[in-house]
Amino acid sequence: YTCFEEITERVILGRALEQKATMDFLNGVANRASIMDQLCAEWDRKRRDPEHRCAILLLDLDFFKQINDTMGHAAGDAVLKHISQLLTEAVRSADLVGRMGGEEFLVMLRGTGLASAFALAERVCERVASRATGFEGAPIATTISIGVSVIRADDASIDAVLARADHALYAAKNAGRNRAIPHADPLATD
Ligand code: GH3
Ligand code: MG
Ligand code: MG
Repeated sequence: YTCFEEITERVILGRALEQKATMDFLNGVANRASIMDQLCAEWDRKRRDPEHRCAILLLDLDFFKQINDTMGHAAGDAVLKHISQLLTEAVRSADLVGRMGGEEFLVMLRGTGLASAFALAERVCERVASRATGFEGAPIATTISIGVSVIRADDASIDAVLARADHALYAAKNAGRNRAIPHADPLATD
């Protein structure tokens, strides 16, 4: 009996550790290491099966430093939690939501091409803009910019996919923020 209890305890402890290793401390979404693992698995699959599709959204909060500076770090953290929740609600259970670090998030959409990923990204922008974070009785309005890309069979590594998404994100920031931009890729098929 004692032995059974010990084993149960060890299983529970093991699960807690595993969760700690893959979850972002702040939001309960995936952390960077876990995101990279899963992206690499999709990239691997794409190389074996060119028909397989996988899109990624790279998201960065707009003017987030202002929120920290004017309302404090706790307000910033509340916004990050709120955004995590909105993102999790916006995707299917087969998809992945994670925080790459700071105020940058990533959404991985399995079985999705560029056009549908872009449509989802636009909905996410609208949703974030229309739902302020409630913090100490006052709403904090936030917007988000998104770069969209897809994994290609000829990508040398997952970094190539991330670089395209980052490029598109940069374009979204430059175009005035609060928008999604797909990576313009003449060779990409949806
Ligand atoms: P842009 O629209 O160009 O993205 O501007 P920005 O202000 O969002 O970008 P910038 O990179 O200048 O600022 C990001 C800020 O995010 C800086 C840092 O203090 C804050 N930050 C990073 N991680 C956390 C966190 O875990 N919690 C809080 N509250 N703030 C964080
Ligand atoms: Mg930012
Ligand atoms: Mg940033």
